[in-house]
Amino acid sequence: MPSYLKMSADQLGRLKEQLENEYALARSAGLKLNMTRGKPCAQQLDLSNGLMTALSAQDYLADDGTDCRNYGGLDGIREARQLFADLLDTRPEHVMVAGNSSLNLMYDMMVRAMLFTLPGGVRPWGQEEKVRFICPVPGYDRHFFVTQTLGIEMVPVPMTPEGPDMDQVEALAANDPSIKGIWTVPVYSNPEGITYSTDTCRRLAGMKTAAPDFRIFWDNAYVVHHLYPDHQESVPDMIALCADSGNPDRVFEFASTSKITFSGAGIACIAASEANLQFIRMQMGIQTIGPDKMSQLRHVRFLKDRDGVERIMKQHADILRPKFECALDLLDEQLGDTGVCSYNRPKGGYFISLSVLPGTAAKVVSLAKEAGLELTPAGNPFPYGQDPMDTNIRLAPSFPTLEELKNATNLLILCIRLAAVAKLLAA
Ligand code: PLP
Repeated sequence: MPSYLKMSADQLGRLKEQLENEYALARSAGLKLNMTRGKPCAQQLDLSNGLMTALSAQDYLADDGTDCRNYGGLDGIREARQLFADLLDTRPEHVMVAGNSSLNLMYDMMVRAMLFTLPGGVRPWGQEEKVRFICPVPGYDRHFFVTQTLGIEMVPVPMTPEGPDMDQVEALAANDPSIKGIWTVPVYSNPEGITYSTDTCRRLAGMKTAAPDFRIFWDNAYVVHHLYPDHQESVPDMIALCADSGNPDRVFEFASTSKITFSGAGIACIAASEANLQFIRMQMGIQTIGPDKMSQLRHVRFLKDRDGVERIMKQHADILRPKFECALDLLDEQLGDTGVCSYNRPKGGYFISLSVLPGTAAKVVSLAKEAGLELTPAGNPFPYGQDPMDTNIRLAPSFPTLEELKNATNLLILCIRLAAVAKLLAA
């Protein structure tokens, strides 16, 4: 397929007519397809049905004799803390295990920092004149909703193939005391599937910050979510790295089993230094008398250990890989040389991130919607929903069947081509 960017107006005009005809046909097919959220499909959820029978009626005691049916145990049961510690390459003393949602833990952590003085801080963030947060872009929309809801100003910093642009991050953190932290997804980032380099991790852990209570929100949501068993990306233990760099309290790490077992009935954790955990316990102990320890016990019995998690993640990969490859192959075949769309080839995580011709992303999403394909709203992976170049589109291939995915990707490609040709003709 020739580059659209080199076509004459005549050629573009003819192509537009042809694409409009194809689009009219697609629209009349009455499709109903959805590629919005990164949800596991039912076949993936079925991999964990053993959770439902992992505990017998007599199995409710944790290793140390804790009765998991009862109140208490704010930190979570010892063996669940060990399991997350193994996945995050940290020590169980650093880990607290809670309910099913790590996003919930992130929201609570942000609210706590707004209301109470963090270790190393002078006053709660909410008592500062202005609080600003570094947001690598494109990023996870729900992170940005949390900061936006709390009135925290978001400062976008572009991603590079090694993580956020660290020159910009360091300059912002070093010179502006209102910069209180940064959102990160260090392994197979949402949406680009980028894993931070060791150098990026070191710089984040060791950089100078004008705010004494600067925090990295280290959302390790995809730490074990490899698509290719022989290609496993990882980052260093950030808690140890921060401690070794003289900043032991700099990081709050988060993870969950949402995309390991059941997204709606898993377990999640927060990991941090002892001073940070003490700070968390002070308010969490007011919020709750303890987490759902039966769910924690059930997960430990079912997953057992790191090997058990790796086994199930391989099964997830076997379901997900063909979907990612199907979408990528279609993109290659139909958009390869057109010059109007580039994309990543993720080795893990849940998303494919597309860069369509600048100024056309919103148009592509609306064309797709009119023809029956729901996509994540253009701009969502940016603070305030504003993609300055109107170029990014996030695809979530996990939930549809392979057949639906094929239809959805073909329709998406048609919309990308049509929007691009219309834009080039109007230029
Ligand atoms: N963090 C990232 C980067 C995600 O992509 C998601 C879900 O898509 C979550 C967190 C949500 O995690 P949880 O289900 O544990 O709340």
